[in-house]
Amino acid sequence: MNEYMKETNEALLHTYNQFPVVLERGEGAYLYDTEGKKYLDFAAGYAVSSLGYADKELNDALKEQIDKIFHTSNLYYNTACGKAAEDLKRITVMARISFTNSGGEAVEGTLKAARKYAYKKGTGRYEFIAMKESFHGRSFGALSVTGHDPYRAPFEPLVPGVSFAEYNDLDSVRALMEQADGQTAAVIVEAVGANMGVVPPKKGFLEGLRKLCDEYGALLIFDEVITGFRLAFGGAAEYFGVTPDLVTYGKIIGAGMPVGAYGGRREIMELVSPVGKVYQAGTLSGNPIAMAAGLTQLKYLYEHQGIYKDLEEKGKRLYGGMEKILAEKNLPYHINHVSSLGSLFFTEQEVVDYTSAKSSDTKAFSEYFKGMLAQGIHMAPSQFEAMFLSVAHTDEIIDQTLEAVRNYFTK
Ligand code: PMP
Repeated sequence: MNEYMKETNEALLHTYNQFPVVLERGEGAYLYDTEGKKYLDFAAGYAVSSLGYADKELNDALKEQIDKIFHTSNLYYNTACGKAAEDLKRITVMARISFTNSGGEAVEGTLKAARKYAYKKGTGRYEFIAMKESFHGRSFGALSVTGHDPYRAPFEPLVPGVSFAEYNDLDSVRALMEQADGQTAAVIVEAVGANMGVVPPKKGFLEGLRKLCDEYGALLIFDEVITGFRLAFGGAAEYFGVTPDLVTYGKIIGAGMPVGAYGGRREIMELVSPVGKVYQAGTLSGNPIAMAAGLTQLKYLYEHQGIYKDLEEKGKRLYGGMEKILAEKNLPYHINHVSSLGSLFFTEQEVVDYTSAKSSDTKAFSEYFKGMLAQGIHMAPSQFEAMFLSVAHTDEIIDQTLEAVRNYFTK
């Protein structure tokens, strides 16, 4: 630990315990620390980067915006914000859009909009069904629908009326709908479980949720903070062909600048201010710099949708390659992946839900994480987070990574 780290630790409460590495710059798929060490990055700053670090177009857009204006109040129009909303409107379900500073805030917005919609319709519904071991953010509302008990327990009671079903188990959702007896305002789900490691939806799960919500008169909310613009421009909704009523997006829009967004069907979203009475945005929501990044990123992704086919291929190359190595070494572990998003689970069981995800040997994962870092490869440090590929991960980089994986398992 160097002097800078010691001094910092006296003053700052980090969000998480930190690795003894000071990162100084990023370029493409690589990060560099102050000691000059280079890391190949598969964590994407917790899922923000889809174009890679130091993308020139993005950097230029930010610099240009700084010189023009970097904050007014949101009482006025700002060009990037409106244009970014137009880009988002190209996604089927996004009839109207509201920008926030984070994914968690976007979740708050959808929860408020869903309750307001039920109240306006006179049904009085206020309950939410969420999934066990999901993650939706750390503010009170978002935390209330987050299915990790240890995150919620210190602050209970949280928002009332939330119950938790098993991800990938429609019967458990139906049972809660029955129990709620017509009081379910909305079901909120990460369309691909990405906070218990990557757990893809079983065939028919998302379609089944759509049907159940229609049958019981509840809204369906997809939290696409991880999957939005990553699996397809229209996220998991487009990738799996299931249309929710409301959607949240987050960090990937701003590529590291604070942007989140929520939107959905017109009749629901028009309950949000200034048309309606649902206030969620704050002083900095949709601020010009964040939105200059958002607009540049969205424009690029919309105009280059070929990258999604490439990311799908890269995902197959990396995760398929890892599967082959495990087979070669007679290791019975499992890999889940959806396009560029993936996880290696140290378990003999197929991972289809949290129960099976939990069977993974987290100590073995931790050793693997350290073994890969020692070879200059940086991944998300927890078994229950995902690996991400960006357009900057070339086939050559993926093949080098596979060599490092092979090295690690050749012990
Ligand atoms: N939803 C999901 C699915 C997430 O993974 C996260 C954070 N990783 C959030 C919401 C919260 O986003 P933020 O950290 O921007 O508040």
